[in-house]
Amino acid sequence: MPAETASTPTVDAHALIMLPPLDGLSEEQLRGAACIWCSEGLTTDTAVDLGERRHRRLDGHYSTFPRGCRTHGHRAMVQAIHDHAGMCEQCVDAPETCDLGMALVRLEKAARP
Ligand SMILES: [Zn+2]
Ligand SMILES: [Zn+2]
Repeated sequence: MPAETASTPTVDAHALIMLPPLDGLSEEQLRGAACIWCSEGLTTDTAVDLGERRHRRLDGHYSTFPRGCRTHGHRAMVQAIHDHAGMCEQCVDAPETCDLGMALVRLEKAARP
């Protein structure tokens, strides 16, 4: 395998987690103070980090840091694992060798309610 393919050292497992559309979300939801699915207020103990999301707008880019409650965050991660495994040859052959699949499983374990 050529060396160039190793140019993505960090796997962004968070990017595989499907989030609801940003339109109509409250400011609390956009900055991670409330669950992005159910708008329940979050504390550091209850929040599940969903990673930084970059968004494009007319004058450049901006980032949001969405978070979810454990119920919805965990559910979305289980869904992401299923979605990924269904289209990843590596996960079919040998799941333990897929960096992305393993990263998702780690996130899911940490988010268990
Ligand atoms: Zn929620
Ligand atoms: Zn995989």
